[in-house]
Amino acid sequence: MFLFYFFFFTNFTNMTETTKFGGPENDLSNQKPGETTVFLSSSSNLVSSDKQNERVIVITSGKGGVGKTTTTANLGMSIARLGYRVALIDADIGLRNLDLLLGLENRVLYTAMDIVEGQCRLDQALIRDKRWKNLALLAISKNRQKYNVTRKNMQNLIDSVKELGFHFILIDCPAGIDVGFINAIAPAQEAVIVTTPEITAIRDADRVAGLLEANGIYNVKLLVNRVRPDMIQKNDMMSVRDVQEMLGIPLLGAIPEDTNVIISTNRGEPLVLNKKLTLSGIAFENAARRLIGKQDYFIDLTSPQKGMFQKLQEFFLGED
Ligand code: ADP
Ligand code: MG
Repeated sequence: MFLFYFFFFTNFTNMTETTKFGGPENDLSNQKPGETTVFLSSSSNLVSSDKQNERVIVITSGKGGVGKTTTTANLGMSIARLGYRVALIDADIGLRNLDLLLGLENRVLYTAMDIVEGQCRLDQALIRDKRWKNLALLAISKNRQKYNVTRKNMQNLIDSVKELGFHFILIDCPAGIDVGFINAIAPAQEAVIVTTPEITAIRDADRVAGLLEANGIYNVKLLVNRVRPDMIQKNDMMSVRDVQEMLGIPLLGAIPEDTNVIISTNRGEPLVLNKKLTLSGIAFENAARRLIGKQDYFIDLTSPQKGMFQKLQEFFLGED
């Protein structure tokens, strides 16, 4: 029997538009954002996109190692592939690694710190992805660079990035809830909280949800990562629904535990770029489509029965 975890969640039922998903070979970069796309505003009304609707979303968690950077890279790449201009901001100071996940590590010459110190211009520090030119990366600081970016600096920086016409600005937040976290959330109007189905991560996620609200960020969604359906079936892991109910945050998506995540990290190629689709890659693309306000297919994270995975591939590649 198929267990569709997401069936229970009605948060997205207002979104009616469905579109076939382009496979890696479908270049969607010429699609004009806003022409066929609808956004879901915080008040759940459908509004058409325009330049005023740029969205600044912080990807946060509290606990380290739960998948914030993986999520930022994959959501960012997916949204870029749907034709939007996306800027990814690596605000994880001490443990900068978004550049590695994107395979852009050799191209980080300048950082936001250099902009703040007047050493370079914003366009020099923004690295354009060669695969998807509508995707750019900005690192806040290099690993051992002295860090003294303030909230105001962060706000000004994101304002300047907005002026360049990006539709989505995703901020990869550092772990913890100290100054790095406070700076990273400062320019955001929305947040995605990433957690694993573990009690320690959930408690930190809850703490972060409270802090986001205290800082005026009310549009928050939940992404549950490293889900193991086999463990859930044996009652050794909380289900996605349990996690969602504990936190009381609308669900954006659930990503299975998958060794392909590690392979893609090591290759510097986000999962969603893989020619051979993986369940985790599909789950990230699913979450990205919900983030931009498109109704989506609910995927099954239980061990895919024979033929199911094939059907999913066909669905997303439009071959059915
Ligand atoms: P964070 O940014 O929250 O510290 P990362 O995105 O760097 O977390 O992920 C931490 C580690 O977990 C990385 O080695 C990454 O490859 C691995 N990881 C993340 N998500 C998954 C997943 N769904 N399946 C398997 N490994 C994962
Ligand atoms: Mg990280």
